[in-house]
Amino acid sequence: MQIKRNILLNPGPSTTTDSVKMAQLVPDICPREKEFAGMMKGIREDLVKIVHGDLNEYTSVLFCGSGTINIDVCLNSLLPANKKILIVNNGAYSTRAVEVCEYYNLPHIDLKFPIDELPDLKKVEQVLTQDNDIAVVYTTHNETGTGILNPIKDIGALAHKYNAIFVVDTTSSYAMRPINVYEDNIDFCMASAQKGIMAMTGLSFVIGKRSVIEKSKEYPKRSYYCNLYLQYEFFEKTGEMHFTPPVQTIYAARQALNEYFAEGEKAKWERHTRVFEAIHAGLAELGFKNVIKREWQTGLVVSAVYPDDKNWDFEKVHDYCYSRGFTIYPGKISTTNTFRLCALGAIDENDIKNFFVVFKEALLNTGVTVPVIYNK
Ligand SMILES: *Cc1c(COP(=O)(O)O)cnc(C)c1O
Repeated sequence: MQIKRNILLNPGPSTTTDSVKMAQLVPDICPREKEFAGMMKGIREDLVKIVHGDLNEYTSVLFCGSGTINIDVCLNSLLPANKKILIVNNGAYSTRAVEVCEYYNLPHIDLKFPIDELPDLKKVEQVLTQDNDIAVVYTTHNETGTGILNPIKDIGALAHKYNAIFVVDTTSSYAMRPINVYEDNIDFCMASAQKGIMAMTGLSFVIGKRSVIEKSKEYPKRSYYCNLYLQYEFFEKTGEMHFTPPVQTIYAARQALNEYFAEGEKAKWERHTRVFEAIHAGLAELGFKNVIKREWQTGLVVSAVYPDDKNWDFEKVHDYCYSRGFTIYPGKISTTNTFRLCALGAIDENDIKNFFVVFKEALLNTGVTVPVIYNK
């Protein structure tokens, strides 16, 4: 079977290999069978190994849903009674965590920083010294909206200094930029199958400390379907997901993990870096400006500013590229008009070179001056 290969430069889902796509075509099976539970056990362990956790200390819990389910699960499940969450917020995804807190009425502090700057650690520490009720410190590793890399190791160290647990949204860095739960001071992190591991949508996972999950049994229950302890306990007792898992998606994730370990952490990160550099080179040649200082970028998302050209029309450029197999994506910044090109997925340098041929054509075809112009 020939499957058309699209190059997705959006921030997930990502381009997948044909072998991962094909892994979904399996004989029908009831997910309550031992064979299926055995496969999930291996997946849960491999997900912990990717961030170098000791399997006695760290575990992973699978959920059926997109990545946001992890944010919901961690926040609603890991907050003890009468305690607070501190959200170190410099972007759209940490803002999503704030919204989850608002929906559940969870006591929280929204510590805001500009979206194009790193959080000020002195301010983070100041809040921690002033408020003894903070039990959870939360942030986002790679703020996908802009591509800025947050200093999780330092934020985690501060959380631990003040006896809080550290939860980090690693959805857009996990299995791409190397993460080590010990070196990065992580108690909980999270990701989704369609991003770093380059599998399908519909499966997400929280990776974290067993001891904390077990303690959370006594915490207030704020959700039924999205409770971390409930899902963990069911997995531990039966090896199964509490409710129906996304069966075929899990077969694809199994294959994707095999491919992850075959490629290797280092080689994979080098490949994403090559792609990222090629994106920068292509944009620079066309004169595009970056939103985030280069040295602060995670190395996976490039946010570019719209040129000041009356003919620039993102939709038209998008459609031109899309019909030729390349997907580009708008930015997530309310104050500046930006678009994003991302380095995740089963793609390499050459795909980016081919993309820029098409992208340049799209600009010229829609009457945009190249190199692009800015008023200031
Ligand atoms: C993609 C992503 C998510 C999950 O978003 P969904 O739309 O629910 O898949 C969460 N956090 C970050 C940082 C992400 O990049």
